[in-house]
Amino acid sequence: MEYRRLGQSGLKLSALSLGSWVTFRNQVDVRLAEQLLKTAYDQGVNFFDNAETYANGESEFIMGQALKRLGWARDSFCVSSKVFFGSRDQPLPTQRGLSRKHVTEACHQALARLQVDYLDLYFCHRPDPEAPIEETVRAMHTLVQQGKVLYWGTSEWSAEEITTAHKVAQAQHLTPPSMEQPQYNLFHRERVEKEYAPLYRAYGMGTTIWSPLASGVLSGKYNRGIPGDSRLNLPGYEWLRDKLETAEGRRRLVAVEKLAAIARELGMSLSQLAIAWCLKKPQVSTVILGASRLEQLQENLGALAQIAKLVPEVVARIEAAAGA
Ligand code: NDP
Repeated sequence: MEYRRLGQSGLKLSALSLGSWVTFRNQVDVRLAEQLLKTAYDQGVNFFDNAETYANGESEFIMGQALKRLGWARDSFCVSSKVFFGSRDQPLPTQRGLSRKHVTEACHQALARLQVDYLDLYFCHRPDPEAPIEETVRAMHTLVQQGKVLYWGTSEWSAEEITTAHKVAQAQHLTPPSMEQPQYNLFHRERVEKEYAPLYRAYGMGTTIWSPLASGVLSGKYNRGIPGDSRLNLPGYEWLRDKLETAEGRRRLVAVEKLAAIARELGMSLSQLAIAWCLKKPQVSTVILGASRLEQLQENLGALAQIAKLVPEVVARIEAAAGA
């Protein structure tokens, strides 16, 4: 495993990490969660990603049970949560958003469900236009001072919002955000590569990137229809299937055929090619993998061994194929 600093912080995360969105509870029970976590950990993965909203808190509960059964030393792994959406279908006004109240309550609830004393990483899952950024920064700072959170960050905030958080923190002597959690894959590049470009150097921002396979599209599995046991067939995820049926979705499936041909030529799977491409990017601190089965995780962890094949000329071909 390769370890990378989370931006300019001193924390070293494994270049590949594992998340639980969609999978834990919907597709993965405690027993399989334990196997997935163990498989990842045994290969050097030290970061496991979660959020209050995943399966309405059930995902954190399952991860907590699995972590307890595994009994790893607490100083050997990192676990995260995210606050914003709430952990129930119809949260009350106090049960969602980035008010001081909800940021604090959601942290306490995540700690209880995950059965840990502190969160290594705690993210604001989205910006909240109805909460002053200063209030949120202060709430995060308090949690850091209390030792309940080690590093706090944002997810899908604009560069402008992140800059405001840093300015507030600097002016008020509060703990600034250390990282962002943006979507990043061969089909979704703009924000990480362009919008955030000034932030890496100015603030030493790290990134924990999500959906490296664009929800599985970049595995090639959707090029011959939608498999019955796949994410796009789960109740509640119709919006993902609808996206695939747009003009852009169809364009992506054509691009996937071209990418698959390059992967074959290079002697790796398409999933490995897509993940290795993310790993090559210097803006990326860790690539959060998703897997509903053990075999998927094993295949995806194999991406690390493939990155040497992605020399600049190959990367240019991959990017041309994805964009065409
Ligand atoms: P991916 O884009 O990698 O999609 C993962 C899914 O693709 C799997 O669950 C599986 O779905 C399919 N898949 C994975 N590997 C293979 C393979 N080798 N062959 C075939 N199919 C495969 O990542 P996610 O979208 O799951 O995102 C990863 C993590 O990022 C999440 O768990 C979460 O922690 C985080 N995240 C954060 C967000 C945020 O807003 N901050 C938003 C979304 C995710 P299937 O069951 O269909 O086989």
